[in-house]
Amino acid sequence: MKKYDIVIIGSGLGGLICGYILGKNGYKVGIFEKQNQPGGCLQTFVRKGITFDTGMHYVGSMEPGQLLYNIFSYLNLHDNVRLHRLDKAGFEHISLNGKEYRFAMGYENFVETLAQSFPKERTTLIKYVSDIKKFATSSPIFNREILALNEFYSHEAVKTGIGEYLDSLTGNKELQNVLSSTNMLYAGNRDKTPLYIHALINNFYIQSAWRIVGGANSITNSLCNSIQRFGGEVFTGTEVNTINCNTSKATSITLANGEIIEAKYFISNTHPAVTLNMLDSSLIKKIYRERIMNVENTISNFVLYIEFKPDTVPYANFNFYKYKSDNVWGCSSYTSNDWPRNYIFMHQVPLKNMRFAESGVLISYMKFDEVIKWSDTYLGKRGPDYKLFKEAKKEILLRQLENDFPGIRNNIKEVYSSSPLTLRDYTGTKNGSMYGILKDKNYPERTLISHHTKVPNLFFTGQNINSHGILGVAVSAVITSSEFVELKRVVNDFFYTDGGRSEK
Ligand SMILES: Cc1cc2nc3c(=O)[nH]c(=O)nc-3n(C[C@H](O)[C@H](O)[C@H](O)COP(=O)(O)OP(=O)(O)OC[C@H]3O[C@@H](n4cnc5c(N)ncnc54)[C@H](O)[C@@H]3O)c2cc1C
Repeated sequence: MKKYDIVIIGSGLGGLICGYILGKNGYKVGIFEKQNQPGGCLQTFVRKGITFDTGMHYVGSMEPGQLLYNIFSYLNLHDNVRLHRLDKAGFEHISLNGKEYRFAMGYENFVETLAQSFPKERTTLIKYVSDIKKFATSSPIFNREILALNEFYSHEAVKTGIGEYLDSLTGNKELQNVLSSTNMLYAGNRDKTPLYIHALINNFYIQSAWRIVGGANSITNSLCNSIQRFGGEVFTGTEVNTINCNTSKATSITLANGEIIEAKYFISNTHPAVTLNMLDSSLIKKIYRERIMNVENTISNFVLYIEFKPDTVPYANFNFYKYKSDNVWGCSSYTSNDWPRNYIFMHQVPLKNMRFAESGVLISYMKFDEVIKWSDTYLGKRGPDYKLFKEAKKEILLRQLENDFPGIRNNIKEVYSSSPLTLRDYTGTKNGSMYGILKDKNYPERTLISHHTKVPNLFFTGQNINSHGILGVAVSAVITSSEFVELKRVVNDFFYTDGGRSEK
């Protein structure tokens, strides 16, 4: 029987970073992944030679000295993951009710560029930048302190909603909308999303923004290789069915093929509700189970993966955020008549000729209810009416794209699409939720989930702890790993040093 110090369930980014930190610190780690490809949201797929990213398109803070640069140094990713910097003068182009705005890179640049659209609001913009810098690092973990969640619940950054904050910042509604126009990055809700989440993400990208070249699976592959080098093992196609417990702790997992794996400790990288479905233990009280099972999750999406005809579409080194109205909020409450209220469109970095885009991805919100009637079906076997549904949605999005980029349809060679069911079946998130649990400033104790479970040697990690995205998940992995390695040391090495790399 296989036996590990630590078993990790799921090889999403959170599971892999935990595996890396713990393996590097001498623990024997075994990672068990349900899919045939590791990575969770970092999975890619290839059609006619083009690699498409599914859930990791761009990252931030990658200049020497910035946070992700240091994290990449710790994780030994610099030499294995290629990045391409987005346009410094405008890495986000925002089309709002027919007007266009730009987010420029670097705090000063960001302020000066938006001040051209809002000349009377320069002081507001300076305050905004200073606020998000402060609130982005408000989690105690950045101060090398254990994350005491009950203290964090009452932190200004958590109990203040993004809507309240913007109202206090400026009465200029147009500027409020522009500052929150990338809220699709966190499926934001004006009355619920804590300022912390908004600040963490906007601050991350404003410092510097980069596309991943050739697919986010380069991150996965590099992490898996390192974990193996440290003596750990990563298994794919190994769905975990149950976490077995005695009266006081977890003892083993049972895989779908019946194999039993023992360990001293267990970390689950799956959605907490999915984890609880694997657990039938008296250690889990009914009230805790109900809380986790009923927590609200972020909305899902419908995505187009587009292959362009060669040398027809000039490569756009920026992301395009489209809003049909002047209101960036409430887009997830669309009706069948006005879908989509917004979308993001981005080119992938060309591999042959930087002048022309080879492919692009368009992401729109979609409620799970729209596909619920096919929820008992599985990939590739959902029937003809599902195909017709997808074709109809695809057509609506392509018309919208043509409207925003006249002539583009003529230059499209092939379009593939995915629905909330695809996301659900590839990542295991409930109802294909994009970013897992929706953090709610009105109910921080219910929606900011602790990495501790009620089983003393079972922990959570990943986007449902702390926050989602490459930075949020990295923070979650450090929080979980601090159960096993000295927190101050790991925080210091992980976030604040680059191992002398920038001096090379
Ligand atoms: C469309 C989209 C675009 C995004 N774009 C970006 C971006 O540009 N930049 C960014 O920073 N972030 C982005 N994100 C967010 C980011 O990808 C995620 O927050 C992050 O990758 C989540 O990692 P995770 O470890 O929490 O979980 P996941 O990636 O969800 O991994 C969980 C893993 O657990 C496995 N699993 C589930 N059940 C079982 C089981 N029973 N047994 C074994 N394994 C199991 C799953 O198969 C999966 O591999 C995007 C997300 C989406 C959906």
